[in-house]
Amino acid sequence: AFNIDKHEWKKSAYEGALSFGQRSSLSILERRQSLPIYKLKNELVNAVNENRVLVVVGETGSGKTTQVAQYLAEAGYSTKGIIGCTQPRRVAATSVAKRVAEEVGCRLGEEVGYSIRFDDCTGPDTLIKYMTDGMLFREILMDKNLSQYSVIMLDEAHERTVNTDVLFGMLKQLVKRRPDLRLIVTSATLDAEKFSSYFFNCMIFTVPGRTYPVDTLYAKQPESDYLDGAILTVLQIHLSEPEGDILVFLTGEEEIEFACQSLYERMKELGKDVPELIILPAYGAQPSAEQSKIFKPAPPGKRKVVVATNIAETSLTIDGIFYVIDPGFAKINVYNPKQGVDLLVVTPISQASASQRAGRAGRTGPGKCFRLYTESAFHNEMSPNTVPEIQRSNLVHTTLMLKAMGINDLKYFDFMDPPSPEALTSAVEQLKMLGALDEEGFLTKLGSRMAVLPLDPPLSKMLLASANLGCSDEIVTIIAMLQAGNTFYRPKEKQAQADLKKAKFLQPEGDHLTLLAVYEAWKAKNFSSPWCSENFVQFRSLSRARDIRKQLLTVMDKYELEVVSAGKDRTMIRKAVIAGCFFHVAKKEPREGYRTIVDKQVVYIHPSSVLFQRQPDWVIYNELVMTTKEYMREVSAIEPKWLMEQVPRFFKAADPTKMSNHKCQERIEPLYDRYHEPNSWRLSRRRA
Ligand code: ADP
Ligand code: MG
Repeated sequence: AFNIDKHEWKKSAYEGALSFGQRSSLSILERRQSLPIYKLKNELVNAVNENRVLVVVGETGSGKTTQVAQYLAEAGYSTKGIIGCTQPRRVAATSVAKRVAEEVGCRLGEEVGYSIRFDDCTGPDTLIKYMTDGMLFREILMDKNLSQYSVIMLDEAHERTVNTDVLFGMLKQLVKRRPDLRLIVTSATLDAEKFSSYFFNCMIFTVPGRTYPVDTLYAKQPESDYLDGAILTVLQIHLSEPEGDILVFLTGEEEIEFACQSLYERMKELGKDVPELIILPAYGAQPSAEQSKIFKPAPPGKRKVVVATNIAETSLTIDGIFYVIDPGFAKINVYNPKQGVDLLVVTPISQASASQRAGRAGRTGPGKCFRLYTESAFHNEMSPNTVPEIQRSNLVHTTLMLKAMGINDLKYFDFMDPPSPEALTSAVEQLKMLGALDEEGFLTKLGSRMAVLPLDPPLSKMLLASANLGCSDEIVTIIAMLQAGNTFYRPKEKQAQADLKKAKFLQPEGDHLTLLAVYEAWKAKNFSSPWCSENFVQFRSLSRARDIRKQLLTVMDKYELEVVSAGKDRTMIRKAVIAGCFFHVAKKEPREGYRTIVDKQVVYIHPSSVLFQRQPDWVIYNELVMTTKEYMREVSAIEPKWLMEQVPRFFKAADPTKMSNHKCQERIEPLYDRYHEPNSWRLSRRRA
């Protein structure tokens, strides 16, 4: 039950803070009051009172994310329910919640909290909840009226993630059912008109920005190596431009760590005569203490450079940036529905993104943006807008969730920009193969159990299958390890030593069991941190795996899934992997590499895999990454006969009558033939 008295918004939080630590609290208050949105506080609250749906636009940094929820709480909305605010990125949700808790003067998880997958930091007192859009989507599965909430703010809606797009459709329906609910959609860009016309032509509330001109400089020639170009530009700015911090956009963790290391070394070479440069990485998977550092102003006389992924484009605002370096690339997920393949690829950004990036230089004063591409490339090669993720993603998870919410025919779902029919068909077919949908496309019992697990459908299938196969204890660990990020590290100067240590954990069956072995060895050492450094294993990843594992066990307990260990018989573990990930099977090619069984692509075992040397005939992999080649990561050896045993609906032996038993195992094919219908990814209904 909701105790209204207790949940009344604490104005006193500020007043109390004033009497304790006047100076620092005052400056927080002052900073809040200096934000452009502050002057419009009353108007904004009135607009929310009078409109069920409101689109709020404003430059990044104007105070939308941190202030709107607080204003509404002060205006009494928190007495009627939680004020929920979604973020496309996990880091934004946690970082903003932390900031707002500080502003309010409470501990994180009390009045202000956050909720992201595998990490719920909210409590009975939580009034303002920042969360990923994926979490809110999941909450609709549990309560389709979201009755706990008085306000939902879909923040950073211009990012157009699949989850935000689906929430658009769900919430558009919900505001009709719940007249008391308030929906706010915020955007940093020009999409406001489009959002408004989608949401019943609702009012657009504009927060005027406070921006300074940004001088844009282009590369004269195309840059052949943007990473190197970016590093050189940082040094050039540092040595020749007046004071002001630098923001560099790169595409991912590895690139960022490389750039930071390389900047650090070059600064060392330059010696003590040049002013200090504080080098700070910023990416999603970073520990939050590291991340907080990017917001700290550089001490006088020093300059700071933040090397970030797209998170600094709109999600996080760093004050004091005068120089932006934009190589023009971002890593995005692309999905090919015809082949059923997901790939993370580095692609050129859109013109809209480029403008956002440049804008980051003009928040504190007139700034400069260095584009490491030519002006002609900007005009002729970059598309005006980024394609919404829903039109380039794998929709298997989304489709399963919507089906579980009772939305059966996605063709009629009110998408702002609908996904391609191929992607929808492909998703449905894959869910049928996984057994989550029946032949008619209705949710099965298995499907409804898969939907409640906080995992992608192949992994939830793997987990459910493992309970039947008697190896769920091991599979939970493996899934947690797969989700937790890189396990091993291999510092440049100690590669041989790291490889020796890694060899100790090596399991001949492949990476899945090797990950399990690492976790179990760590557990045997009481989850020790020094043990991790001795063995060149990332303590942070393992701790995260431990956390995820714990949470999965709670979910399993709730849905009465048995936790059983396979003991010595480890074959079952790989069979469970097959039950979920059977789309990811590849067979060795006679000369080199592998061919995937579903789409007949040539792929290779990643050099980091324990099977890199051995190259077994049949393998199953966790994901494909595209670098110089298409690499399979986290690979295990399998027996082809297990495929027919575990997934008889999907695999058949090629013409079994004409072959010996042995041969027949070798000639396994997926049980469908896409090529008869060139434009869709369809099953043929033949049975083996
Ligand atoms: P918007 O959502 O309109 O882009 P925000 O509410 O995110 O704006 O940001 C408002 C201000 O709060 C910015 O000046 C930003 O630098 C500051 N801010 C946001 N998050 C943090 C944080 N974690 N630490 C310090 N300052 C922050
Ligand atoms: Mg924001």
